[in-house]
Amino acid sequence: MTVHAKTALLGSEWVHNLRVEIEDGRIAALKSGTEPKPEDTRVDVLLPALANLHSHAFQRAMAGMTETRVAGRESFWTWRTLMYRFLDRLTPAQIEAIAALVYMEMQEAGYAAVGEFHYVHHQPGGTPYAQLSELSQRIFSAASQTGIGLTHLPVLYTYGGVAQEPLTGGQLRFGNDVERFLQLVEDCKPLMPYADSQIGIAPHSLRATSPDDLRQVLNATPRDPVHIHISEQEKEVTDVEAALGQRPVDWLLSNVDVNERWCLIHATHMTDDETRALARSGAVAGLCPITEANLGDGIFNGAVYIEQGGAFGVGSDSNVRISLPEELRTLEYSQRLRDKARTVLVRGEGSVGQTLYTGAARGGAQALGRDAGEIAIGHLADLVAIDRSHPTLCTLRDDQLIDGLSFAAPDGTVTDLWSAGRHQVRGGRHIARDAILNNYRAAINDLLEDI
Ligand code: ZN
Repeated sequence: MTVHAKTALLGSEWVHNLRVEIEDGRIAALKSGTEPKPEDTRVDVLLPALANLHSHAFQRAMAGMTETRVAGRESFWTWRTLMYRFLDRLTPAQIEAIAALVYMEMQEAGYAAVGEFHYVHHQPGGTPYAQLSELSQRIFSAASQTGIGLTHLPVLYTYGGVAQEPLTGGQLRFGNDVERFLQLVEDCKPLMPYADSQIGIAPHSLRATSPDDLRQVLNATPRDPVHIHISEQEKEVTDVEAALGQRPVDWLLSNVDVNERWCLIHATHMTDDETRALARSGAVAGLCPITEANLGDGIFNGAVYIEQGGAFGVGSDSNVRISLPEELRTLEYSQRLRDKARTVLVRGEGSVGQTLYTGAARGGAQALGRDAGEIAIGHLADLVAIDRSHPTLCTLRDDQLIDGLSFAAPDGTVTDLWSAGRHQVRGGRHIARDAILNNYRAAINDLLEDI
């Protein structure tokens, strides 16, 4: 398969008339300054497609259900209560239908891959399905329907709080001890949908695992990606500090070997010392700006982190809205509103949009254990094409294009997307859009009758 782009971003350089040869899902050859050939798929602007590093697919179906204020009760924790009630009813078929919709929407938004932080494992009440990996298999099936690159992250969720309280209610569907969790990871390995799929582990948070359990699962999986929610909410910080004697990020960095295989999701509430230490560790900060804004989490310590050269990527987390440009712009705007300054998230000089986009491309690929993140020979062909004729982009120089994409363009400038060479979005539409959408509507109607 070959692609010809009028303009393309190679590393940090813009090139013209680039021909890309793709073999076995990887970029086999690159040549700029060439005329298109009849067999080429011709596109306007070709960029490395990002990995969406943090998703809970099923939460997409709750979007818009938690935006009503109830006196004295509006908070992250009441959102969580609704989430538990919701997932007390979800069937395997509904989970698959929602995940397929979400992954399709991600690809149409320009994401080639997803890190699915998968924590619903069992039947309502907590009894495992006949196959322990039943719900993971539903995620694999959704990935197959859409062709998205998947890093599956089964979640270890054992306790209801940092004092190791037992799980209750909706949480019972999440629960595994270390032994059953490691069994689940093993069961998933032969079932992954594509050669480029990956498996990692996700100790849910310092609230839901114990230090001993965390060390055990890390020792058992010494090379896989590790993702963990951390320091999302101030209450979590004070709870962990009371129980473990240190703030969450500080505790994690000083008690386990946090390195390049780690992705710390949110890391919202960090002191400057924690921020610098996280940047030095080589781990990725997994930022979810739309969800963090929606839940009122707080603002990432971005200026300090970028100054230290910290790795980062973006994820859509609750999937309340799936928009790659909006993730990038929300990230930058939150910093501007706090600092009363413009162009905050750039180290030294340069384009904010390009800095955020290329940084999130590299960091997202690192977090997902994926050979991707830039257009380069040998990398997976995770590629996205943009329509430059849009009025918000057609006036811009090459080096302004991603600023236009991030700050000015509407959603919907994506024309084509390849996930490891699988050409899933063409003309702005996912090739399986109608079937996936019909399936979702039928599944969600059944669900809503129960809520
Ligand atoms: Zn999350």
